[in-house]
Amino acid sequence: MRVLVIGGGVIGTTTAWFLVHDGHEVTLIEREPALAAEGSHANGGMLHASHTEPWNSPAAIRQLLRWLGREDSPLLLRPTQIPRLAGWGLGFLRYSRAHHHARNTQVNARLAVYSLEVMRALRTETGLHYDDSAGGILKIFRSAAELATALRTSELMAALGVDFEQLDTAGVVAREPALSDVRDELCGGLFYPQDEIGDARLFTERLGALAAERGAEIRLGERVQRLERDGDRIGAVVTDQCRHRADAYVLATGAEAPLLARQAGLRLPIRPVKGYSATLDVGGKPGAPSLPIIDDGRKIVMSRLGDRLRIAGTAEFAGYDREIRPQRVQTVIRQGLASFPRLAAAVDPATATPWACLRPMTMDGPPILGATPVRNLFLNTGPGHLGWTFAAGAGRVVADVVQGCEPAISLEGLGLERYRG
Ligand SMILES: Cc1cc2nc3c(=O)[nH]c(=O)nc-3n(C[C@H](O)[C@H](O)[C@H](O)COP(=O)(O)OP(=O)(O)OC[C@H]3O[C@@H](n4cnc5c(N)ncnc54)[C@H](O)[C@@H]3O)c2cc1C
Repeated sequence: MRVLVIGGGVIGTTTAWFLVHDGHEVTLIEREPALAAEGSHANGGMLHASHTEPWNSPAAIRQLLRWLGREDSPLLLRPTQIPRLAGWGLGFLRYSRAHHHARNTQVNARLAVYSLEVMRALRTETGLHYDDSAGGILKIFRSAAELATALRTSELMAALGVDFEQLDTAGVVAREPALSDVRDELCGGLFYPQDEIGDARLFTERLGALAAERGAEIRLGERVQRLERDGDRIGAVVTDQCRHRADAYVLATGAEAPLLARQAGLRLPIRPVKGYSATLDVGGKPGAPSLPIIDDGRKIVMSRLGDRLRIAGTAEFAGYDREIRPQRVQTVIRQGLASFPRLAAAVDPATATPWACLRPMTMDGPPILGATPVRNLFLNTGPGHLGWTFAAGAGRVVADVVQGCEPAISLEGLGLERYRG
C-alpha cells in the first residue's frame, strides 16, 4: 500500500516508521527543513502514563478564571482569544464535568500505558537512544491539599496499571538529594517508577533516519497546500512542489490539523495551547537534579536530558502565536530553578535555549486517532500535552487502522466519531 503521512513531528514520524516497518511504501511530508521542528522540538521530555488527566479538570477551570490575563501565571487565557475559542471553549467547559473528566483520563491512560510498552519494544528492536532514561518520575508538592488530590488520582490510575509510591519529605529528598535545600517547603511527593523521559527531537530525527533506511521517502521543506477530494476519498495532495497520489493519507500536522482537515470537509475540535521551555547546560554544575521532576504547585516539569536540564511549562491560550516572549521564558526558568538554589547560583539564565510552541489540544482531552468519513484519510492528531507520551502507541494503532488490522487496544473514546451526536 502507498501511504502519504503529512507532518514530520514525533506523531507523524512514528506513524511513518510503523507503516514502513510493516512493509508499506511511505512518503512523509514536512514543511520545515528538519523533522521535529515544531511542537516536538523541545518539550518537557516526559513519557508519563501517570499524568493523563485532561487539562480541563474542574479545579483547573477555576484557576484559569482566577488567573485571567495575568502575564506571570502558569495558565494564561488572553482575553482577546475568548471569542476565537467559541465552540471549542464551550466543549472544553462541558467536558470538565467530573464524569467526563474521569472517563477521558481513563481513555488517555489506556493509550499511554500501551504507548510506553510499544516504546520499550521499539527501543529493544532498534537500539535507538535519545537521551532517554527509564528511571521513573518524581512529583513534588508544597500543599497538603494538592498532594491529597493527586493521591486520589494516582489510586485510580493504579487500577489501570500505573504504579506509584507515596513519599514523605525525607523520602522525596532520599530519591532526589538536590531537593535538600528546599526540604522545609515540601510536604511530600509521589514517585511513578514506570514513567520515562527522553528528548523527543532526537527520537524523531533518529527514527526518521531509520525509516528512511528502510525505504521511507522523507520530504523536508515541502508544504501541503491542499487536500483534493474525489467523491468519498482523497484523490491527491497538492504541495508547493508537486501533486502526490497515494492509497491512504495520514494527517499528523499537530496544532494546524484543523486547517487541512477542513479542506476535506472535516471539523476537528483542536485548538493550539502554547507552552514554553528553557534548556540549560548543567554538566558539572552543583545541585542539579538527576531525577525528572514535576512541580505540582508551580505547574513546571524538569527533565535531565544528558548534561542538559529542560524546564518546561505554562499553558497559554494565545491562538497560533509562536512568539517567544522573554518574560514567559524567565518565569519558567525562575519557577524551575527555585527548587534548586545551588544550581540557580551556578548557572546563567541568559545562556538557556528558549523555546515556545503549540500543543494540539482537543476540547475533551484524548487525541483523535484513526478513520474518518473520508475513506482513505486517517488522523493522528490532537495529543495536547501528552503527544510525546502517546507517540509510540498512537503511531502503532494508526498504522494498524490504515492497513485494516485490529489494534492491540480498544480505540473507544479515541476516534473522531465520538463527537457525533
Ligand atoms: C512546552 C511544552 C512541553 C511539553 N511537554 C510534554 C511532555 O513532557 N510530555 C509529553 O508527552 N508531551 C509534551 N508536550 C506535548 C508534545 O510536545 C506535543 O503533543 C507533540 O509534540 C505533538 O506532536 P505532533 O507531531 O502532533 O505535532 P508537531 O510536532 O507540531 O508536528 C506537526 C508537524 O506538521 C508540520 N506541518 C504542519 N502543517 C503542515 C503542512 N501544511 N505541510 C507540511 N507539514 C506541515 C509542522 O511543521 C510540524 O512539524 C509538550 C508541549 C509543549 C508545548
